[in-house]
Amino acid sequence: MHDDTLAILGGPPAIRNSFRRFNTIGEEELAVATGVIRSGILSAYIGAPGDAFMGGPRVRAFEAAAAEYFGVKHAVAVNSWTSGLIAAIGAIGLEPGDEVITTPWTMVATATAILQWNGIPVFADIEPDSFNIDPVSVEKLIGPRTRAILAVDIFGQSCNMRALREIASRHGLKLLSDTAQAPGATYHDQYAGTLADIGGFSLNYHKHIHCGEGGILVTNDDRLARRLQLIRNHAEAVIDSDDPAELCNMLGYNFRLGEIEAAIAQEQLKKLAANISGRQRAAAAFDVGLAGLPGLTTPQGSEGCSHVYYIYGMTLNTDELGVPRDKLVAALRAEGVPGLVSGYQNVHLYPLFQHRIAFGTQGFPWTSPYCEREISYQRGICPVAERLHAKTFMGINICLNDYTPDDVAQVAGAFRKVWSQRNALKAG
Ligand SMILES: *Cc1c(COP(=O)(O)O)cnc(C)c1O
Repeated sequence: MHDDTLAILGGPPAIRNSFRRFNTIGEEELAVATGVIRSGILSAYIGAPGDAFMGGPRVRAFEAAAAEYFGVKHAVAVNSWTSGLIAAIGAIGLEPGDEVITTPWTMVATATAILQWNGIPVFADIEPDSFNIDPVSVEKLIGPRTRAILAVDIFGQSCNMRALREIASRHGLKLLSDTAQAPGATYHDQYAGTLADIGGFSLNYHKHIHCGEGGILVTNDDRLARRLQLIRNHAEAVIDSDDPAELCNMLGYNFRLGEIEAAIAQEQLKKLAANISGRQRAAAAFDVGLAGLPGLTTPQGSEGCSHVYYIYGMTLNTDELGVPRDKLVAALRAEGVPGLVSGYQNVHLYPLFQHRIAFGTQGFPWTSPYCEREISYQRGICPVAERLHAKTFMGINICLNDYTPDDVAQVAGAFRKVWSQRNALKAG
């Protein structure tokens, strides 16, 4: 007889097949990587004035391809998106103690990039259905030291860039975007990332397209592009401008992407559109499979946005369900549902911010004369993000697997099984 007992209570798991890991690295990448190795030139950068300052042929070809794909004037390749974020914050000319408003619902590098220039991250709350930074919350936090907004196009969907741009213009702020999770997503027919003064994408192993590790910055601003290129490659050794304003933050790094990675990234870019369609198909199948489950809300599309699904984000009405989220997630995992995340990020609550341990032991930069004001990272400053993280958000890491329609049907079946027997989870 069929045993329908929940797996977490000792029954057989609903899902028996294994899921195919998502992998777009194939013969094309192998061929170009081999070509670079045969050429013997694995990187051609030199951190000194001259043509080689801009990198080798594969880096430049990838940059040209990315600029064309995303429809921007400049693309600047870097060795990670964390590097890209640091370069972007430096390029806008942040002064120590300047504030940048960002979101706590992100990968921590968004916020630490601000600290790397001794800037002060200020956390705005997020919208409960898109999980993106809430423009209303942003505006309330603007003060005399605010210099920029760093928006994050989280989970695969653009922020409300019209509202953010309007606020930035009104207050004379720069607008940056961390579009690590949303390459190829559109916002009113433009690509996410390209509506900011500087935006860009991650090319790490877990992102839509990747070359192992890497990142790509995009901008339409000639001056900012030049500053990004300088910070990427030992700015201090090559800056010869006589305009003092241009010398701001000319402490450079080695953020150079290698030739093999650049060649692979260029092949990956060609696969982005197909990759996105695959994810959108999988997400649409999840939408159908999970429809009608009480107390569960599947991803909500924002106005004017296409979604490229890095994470398939859902919210739970736990009052209606009568079961805490973590119990439901544990039960779903026991049934074999892959890639489930329970909550996401509340970066402001990290020890880094709670104990102010960025540089040294004395609370720098918050305790320095550059920051003579109270900046709060207390629990409660971002109630929406905090509630979602602690209680009501659940996601599927849709980027991990290549879901067939049968896979999705199995996952949906596991959800239905857990939902229909959720009363059994209430006790204990
Ligand atoms: C992945 C990611 C980063 C960091 O990118 P790396 O290439 O791993 O340095 C930054 N921000 C967000 C939102 C990300 O998802």
